[in-house]
Amino acid sequence: MGINYLYPPFEIIRNQDRCITCRVCERQCANLVHHYDAEKGRMTADESLCVNCHRCVSLCPTRALKIVKTDHTFKENANWKTEVIEDIYRQAQTGGVLLASMGTPKDYPVYWDKMLINASQVTNPSIDPLREPMETRTYLGKKNSKIERDSEGRIITNTTGQLKMDIPIMFSAMSYGSISYNAHKSLAIAASELGTFYNTGEGGLHKDFYHYGKHTIVQVASGRFGVHPDYLNAGAAIEIKMGQGAKPGIGGHLPGSKIGEDISATRMIPLYADAISPAPHHDIYSIEDLRQLVYALKEATRYTKPIIVKVAAVHNISAIASGIARSGADIIAIDGFRGGTGAAPLRIRDNVGIPIELALASVDQRLRQEGIRGNVSLVVGGSIRSSSDVIKAIALGADAVYIATSALVALGCHLCRTCHSGKCNWGIATQNPELVKRLNPDVGSQHLVNLITAWNHEIKEMMGGMGINSIEALRGNRLMLRGIGLNETELKILGISHAGQ
Ligand code: SF4
Ligand code: SF4
Repeated sequence: MGINYLYPPFEIIRNQDRCITCRVCERQCANLVHHYDAEKGRMTADESLCVNCHRCVSLCPTRALKIVKTDHTFKENANWKTEVIEDIYRQAQTGGVLLASMGTPKDYPVYWDKMLINASQVTNPSIDPLREPMETRTYLGKKNSKIERDSEGRIITNTTGQLKMDIPIMFSAMSYGSISYNAHKSLAIAASELGTFYNTGEGGLHKDFYHYGKHTIVQVASGRFGVHPDYLNAGAAIEIKMGQGAKPGIGGHLPGSKIGEDISATRMIPLYADAISPAPHHDIYSIEDLRQLVYALKEATRYTKPIIVKVAAVHNISAIASGIARSGADIIAIDGFRGGTGAAPLRIRDNVGIPIELALASVDQRLRQEGIRGNVSLVVGGSIRSSSDVIKAIALGADAVYIATSALVALGCHLCRTCHSGKCNWGIATQNPELVKRLNPDVGSQHLVNLITAWNHEIKEMMGGMGINSIEALRGNRLMLRGIGLNETELKILGISHAGQ
């Protein structure tokens, strides 16, 4: 074996005065970093294995531990940064594609942080959400193009095939297999309590979760894992996954080592066989083909469930969305390039796709120009981090948002970005039964409910501040946004004015 040029990225600092050698850290670390040295009578660590997940730090009873980023450095410059040099060493050693988890860490512009929200002053009074009604209920699906009345003049309300949500926030697709049973259960319980939806992802629906069906979106992806008539009819809506923000243009791969009995039964694939999702759906090469699948799924569910088509935000997204809006789909979900993933080729995650803010603004604009905005609802995801991101997304034209990374963080994820290792110390992105037990679904679901309840309060406060009392009135209301530090092209695409204008 040659010399390993890679220095461990983190250092473990153990305060020996505080350490009581209880060995909690040793038991808690699935990466086998900590060891008890009986000869020296103290703990030692192999920091080359540490991924900085904070599990040992959080559970050490005497606060004896901290993990710090190493200050060991290469003689880097603006072109040859440490990460670039290290990636070359890694590929020179392995000959393999670099894999990564979660969203891109690259310093691309985050447009949510370059938009400011309006507030009423004097002429248009603000509304106090504690004293006056504030509507955050949202319906997703095709809207009627004209008002129809019955013979007695009453408005005919036909909301069949609509998703009704108490809040404009849903939990985005994360498959059983990429996340644990207890993580799925936490999402299912929280979605039911919040009056919203969670999404099975492409891994099928575990038999224990069928009774959460009213709050479940079932996904049909290119691998067709776990898809059968009962599955399609179990959820409130069906999502066709064409693409994912973190890895546009490629499929997925869940290694056979993770396909244990439960996952094999849920996905309907052999035990310990690799679950490979092809890059395209092999029956879809045009909008006409997509339309056939949309209507096949509508047929299979007797036209009672809305069909979502999920795509990654890519360069010609507005033309793609226009096609989808004409395909018979009821909802378009667009996933931006900062979206998370259990595993993606690093180069694709960090270089392919476009920001969700620009994709959303251009899709909403195009559908309005073509007079087909009412054909579909728009749901956006790809790093929605707070209630103000939700407000900005809706003002840019979204009907609702999907969140995933924020939900995982609420469950305890510390963004160590090694989900693909299967050794998640927080019991979220793992199938190891000992690790899965660490996430209690009752506690996890309560954290999710708390997070979304807090966001909902903040959404109502911000809407009240703008003098707006419903999500309906905020949707596409770009006058409520101003850009800060953006150039003319960016402002034009976003369809907003600069602050001060
Ligand atoms: S958990 Fe803390 S106190 Fe216990 S052995 Fe590890 S460092 Fe020492
Ligand atoms: S991988 Fe996590 S649990 Fe293990 S030493 Fe590092 S921070 Fe602690």
